[in-house]
Amino acid sequence: MKNLSIKNKVTIYYSAVLIAVAVILVAAFLITMDYQTKTTTKSNLIKTVQSSFEDIEQEHGKLDIDDDLDLYKKGVALSVYSNKGKLIRGSVPGSFPENAALKNDSCREITSGGEKYMVYDLYTKYGKGIGGVWVRGVYNMDTSVMAGRSIMIFMLMILPVIILLAILFGRRITKKSFQPIAEITSAADDISGENDFAKRLPLGESRDELYYLTVTLNQMMDRLEKAFDSEKQFSSDVSHELRTPVSVVLAECEYILEENRSQEQYKESIESIKKQCVRTMSLIQQLLQLSRSMDKGAALEKEEFDLSSLCVSVIDELSYVADEKNVKLEGEIDKGIIYNGDQTMMMRLLVNLITNGIKYSQNGAAGGSYVKLSLGAGASGSGPVIIVEDNGIGIKADDIPGIFDRFYKADRSRTEDGNSFGLGLSMAKWITEAHGGEITAESTPGEGSRFTVRL
Ligand code: ADP
Repeated sequence: MKNLSIKNKVTIYYSAVLIAVAVILVAAFLITMDYQTKTTTKSNLIKTVQSSFEDIEQEHGKLDIDDDLDLYKKGVALSVYSNKGKLIRGSVPGSFPENAALKNDSCREITSGGEKYMVYDLYTKYGKGIGGVWVRGVYNMDTSVMAGRSIMIFMLMILPVIILLAILFGRRITKKSFQPIAEITSAADDISGENDFAKRLPLGESRDELYYLTVTLNQMMDRLEKAFDSEKQFSSDVSHELRTPVSVVLAECEYILEENRSQEQYKESIESIKKQCVRTMSLIQQLLQLSRSMDKGAALEKEEFDLSSLCVSVIDELSYVADEKNVKLEGEIDKGIIYNGDQTMMMRLLVNLITNGIKYSQNGAAGGSYVKLSLGAGASGSGPVIIVEDNGIGIKADDIPGIFDRFYKADRSRTEDGNSFGLGLSMAKWITEAHGGEITAESTPGEGSRFTVRL
């Protein structure tokens, strides 16, 4: 039973229920019919015997049995006996025992010679000289049993045919209903066999449960395909980013090994190799950070902390980097904002946004370059709002949708500095969303950018 298909299981359960219902119906019909026949026969027998006395009279001290007395009426055979039990008129059916004792006003069943009879005797007392008279009515029960039997034979013949037809019909319906499952299974087999993640499961015509299941599976596959593609893209981006510095290192090594070089040339090559190593190291570190923070299994280490103090200390720590690039780092921090989140992650988010502001600053901005971090409590019912804005180079409208993707670099000329891999904003987005928030960017090229984090 365990290994049977649902189709077969449904057919078996359905047939078993159908057969059980048919058996119960036949049994109930036979019991009712048997009871009904016996009750009708009994009342008919009693009435026939009782009415026979209308034709038995006493005249001049003698018993006068009317010739009209019907001795076989409605299947009842009548016989008249003297008070001594002597048969006067009529007879009993073939195999009925002639000497069966007479019992007044008693209706009973007697089986004799393989036949079943219902008997009713009635005694009536007449005047002196005659004494009394018995009338016996005998009804051959097999007459009604025969009728019942033919109905039963008919039912037993017709029922299996009806059940068989119902099972075949039911199986067809079940098969038809499960057809979409077979199609879904075969489509899923094709997808996994051919590794073709662009394929989708076929949608049925009727909007039933299977239709909605298929829609959900297809949506799941859309997401899987996207995730798969993004992983593929990610691996190819990582390989590309790693290959570039390694090629430079190899080229430098070949150059200095080719022939004897001057001290100056060795120094220059080794400087270049060091720069590429630093870049590779930085990429590896960022990748490690990214994979650790995006590891779904590693839950956020949430705790209540003072977000205002965190913002102030991040500004303190980065002001040295900002100074180096002649950028003014400003803060407009509302005090005492307590937030329940992962403090380390929040710090990384702030650092990424502020260092971007510093990195993409522009020389000669009116009033000098600045990056401003603002923190506000946000509207009631929502969490704190962090805004990082700058008057830097800005981002083109076309680039804005992509900047939160991994390895997306809007301005390549600015990002070949050794530390820019296009990973900072994707991480900022992940951190914000992991805290149930959202991050948005607005920018005007040449005027500056503004990143808003609503927690
Ligand atoms: P990267 O390491 O290259 O800075 P990010 O993911 O942090 O990577 O940023 C992605 C791209 O978005 C950057 O390459 C840059 O072109 C653009 N960008 C991010 N922040 C700013 C900003 N404050 N001003 C201008 N461009 C920015």
